Amino acid sequence: MSVSAPPLLDLGHSYADALPQLSVPWTAAPAPAPALLALNEELAAELGVDAEALRGPAGVGLLVGTAVPDGARPVAQVYAGHQFGGYVPRLGDGRALLLGELVDVRGRRRDLHLKGSGRTPFARSGDGKAAVGPMLREYVMGEAMHALGIPTSRALAVVATGDKVVRETVLPGAVLARVAASHLRVGTFQYAAASGEPEVLRALTDHAIARHHPEAAEAENPALELYRRVVDAQASLVARWMLVGFVHGVMNTDNVTISGETIDYGPCAFMDTFDPDTVFSSIDHAGRYAYGNQPGIAQWNLARLGETLVPLIDDDVDVAVEAATEVVTSFVARYEDHWARGMAAKLGLEEQAPALVQELLALLHSQRVDHTTFFRSLSSHLRGGQARSLFSEPEAFDGWAARWEEQLPRDRGAVAAAMDRVNPVYIARNHLVEEALAAATAGDMAPFHRLVEVVTDPFVERPGLERYAEPAPAGRGPHVTYCGT
Ligand code: AMP
Ligand code: MG
Repeated sequence: MSVSAPPLLDLGHSYADALPQLSVPWTAAPAPAPALLALNEELAAELGVDAEALRGPAGVGLLVGTAVPDGARPVAQVYAGHQFGGYVPRLGDGRALLLGELVDVRGRRRDLHLKGSGRTPFARSGDGKAAVGPMLREYVMGEAMHALGIPTSRALAVVATGDKVVRETVLPGAVLARVAASHLRVGTFQYAAASGEPEVLRALTDHAIARHHPEAAEAENPALELYRRVVDAQASLVARWMLVGFVHGVMNTDNVTISGETIDYGPCAFMDTFDPDTVFSSIDHAGRYAYGNQPGIAQWNLARLGETLVPLIDDDVDVAVEAATEVVTSFVARYEDHWARGMAAKLGLEEQAPALVQELLALLHSQRVDHTTFFRSLSSHLRGGQARSLFSEPEAFDGWAARWEEQLPRDRGAVAAAMDRVNPVYIARNHLVEEALAAATAGDMAPFHRLVEVVTDPFVERPGLERYAEPAPAGRGPHVTYCGT
């Protein structure tokens, strides 16, 4: 009598069950020669999944979606979205699958989702595939963000499929397995609202409340309270992006989560020299998603969410619109509060100091100073080191630094140590990411693994890692990133 092995994991399907109108059952495309390139053992442990088992054939089959446990119900999710401001009524997972949901060791329900797993009914003209480079990019960027304390989806694994992907050149194919609090997006609400079926919108709202903002269920007006909480979660998230110099690059409403996690690492990158106009994406010609525009765009996206919730907020449209408008307007104050607190921590200040901060940002901008290097150098400055050498006209910095130091608490050692806990030494710098991905595409994974190791411990300076802390060598042209790769 043969005994079948216990399943690697139990995959739930609360989304597929609760919202059958918002997904289609689907299966992954075959992978001709799957080979595991990277496995996130820390995340596997958090999920209560045996990492060794994931490395075996059944595990790798699961990670590319071709060996799904009994009882799982993989689906492609449908959503709409404003892409660069233009509304697209039906987007959806064109090359992705929600394999199912896992309850992690802390009891949190999380999505296990694949990207690059083949065409779905939402693929439009896309090939349903993904290349090794961009999937590893999502892995390293997400891990870097997580290590910086920023809510994010995380990569569990990247598996090379053995398939070829045709882009500008022919590239090796891959599937990314990622974990997120959920994949509910502003675009999911837009799709549900436009479906003309009020019960779908209501079921989606109930599902989102239960999953992400359960306290809203107790509120007098649950839909309005959900909205308030999503607005605050996004205000906090985008403030954190701004504090580390992260540029998402494609803040379309289909890439904005209800959970408040960062998702969809496509053309994203960390800014080098401080400049609010920083844009990396090759297609963002107008700079809609430039670094400095991100808070305003987040608010615009949240206004789109508010519009979808109007029928649930009040039967009287005017009353509902007024209530939703008040919430979306509150984004500005919420964002500023999250950001100003974070900036005070970066500067070691106990109180917010708006004038000092504005003066500093103008200085960093006009003298084109590297954002990450500068903030980290401030603690060195307090220990007698050099921050002024980062400035082409250091006298301006001296004046600012004197005013800054006047506002610092007395115990400079403690201040410097606290600053080092919020100002990273190591970020996923563009030239390092490119270098690691080029090597991986050519078959050498060592630089990628090394980079992940460095950026997942970003606050502790370690000898031998100097090149990971340095800006790109002078003379390199502006960094360019690509969407939909
Ligand atoms: P993104 O910009 O990655 O958020 O993707 C926007 C939309 O395009 C989503 O609906 C994706 O599923 C879809 N998409 C992107 N690349 C592909 C592809 N190669 N094949 C099919 N659909 C894709
Ligand atoms: Mg997307």
